[in-house]
Amino acid sequence: MAKTYTNTFPLTMTSSEKQETICIFGTGDFGRSLGYKMLQCGYSVVFGSRNPQMSSLLPSGAEVLSYSEAAQKSDVVILTIHREHYGFLTELTEVLKEKVLVDVSNNLKINQYPESNAEYLAQLVPGAHVVKAFNTISAWALQSGAMDASRQIVDKKENPFSASSAWLSDSYVSLGILGFFLFVLLGITSLPSVSNTVNWREFRFVQSKLGYLTLILCTAHTLVYGGKRFLSPSSLRWGLPSAYVLALIIPCTVLVIKFILIMPCIDKTLTRIRQGWERNYKYSKSALNGRSDI
Ligand code: NAP
Repeated sequence: MAKTYTNTFPLTMTSSEKQETICIFGTGDFGRSLGYKMLQCGYSVVFGSRNPQMSSLLPSGAEVLSYSEAAQKSDVVILTIHREHYGFLTELTEVLKEKVLVDVSNNLKINQYPESNAEYLAQLVPGAHVVKAFNTISAWALQSGAMDASRQIVDKKENPFSASSAWLSDSYVSLGILGFFLFVLLGITSLPSVSNTVNWREFRFVQSKLGYLTLILCTAHTLVYGGKRFLSPSSLRWGLPSAYVLALIIPCTVLVIKFILIMPCIDKTLTRIRQGWERNYKYSKSALNGRSDI
């Protein structure tokens, strides 16, 4: 029997304590996915199958037996079989007596049958207690686990929900969204059809002030991405910095230069130069008059 499910992380802290055995009839998509989740939750799982020897891709740790043998191992039997194939259950009425039968089946069409699948199952196995469950969950959701928010952390070395990690990830997302929004705004305002409709002051504000704000946000976004491992020697592969560190060189250089240039003493001089100020005013004046002091 091939076993391909590898990362069966336990969902509970006390995974070593084996809970009761759950029997699952059918080794199809849904049965396998549900079995995988049950094992993660610490249950012992036994599958019932038409061909126990041929069953493959089952989660590691699960047992696979014939339907009759598997049913004897548990008081709860989950049927992950299509309703159309329920017929064989009539042969198991004795072994299924007083057991809880969980019907997960869905039909392809509304009102496909006169009675519900659970009612049909109750008619087939009158001695069992039929309940309906799990039919609104997909096999895919069971496998991917919708990020498994319910999973408890076994390895406490680093708690992903700790305040600092949450703060870093929230900042990373918020800065990225804000930066990207302003970046798109800059792109739109640089289109000739848009830039022609705004006046010079508005255009300068967007392209200069918002431009730098965008650069700051996007740079901070990448810095936060590095988080605690930023420039830490352990994160250097072959002694080389990561790609995101290299990507930060140019924006950081631009921001440092900009920061120097907007310092009041330099900014004042630069503004005066822009407005036509000249250091050697006398020389310039005489040059304008067509005379030279030399
Ligand atoms: P599937 O992959 O086709 O598996 C059905 C299983 O039924 C087979 O692997 C087979 O297991 C068993 N079976 C027993 N008698 C059979 C027969 N005569 N012919 C064929 N198979 C027979 O189907 P599934 O997607 O797992 O769905 C199973 C049930 O779960 C359905 O009732 C479905 O409505 C319900 N469901 C599925 C999902 C989903 O996302 N897939 C979600 C909600 C509910 P053995 O070969 O081991 O006997």
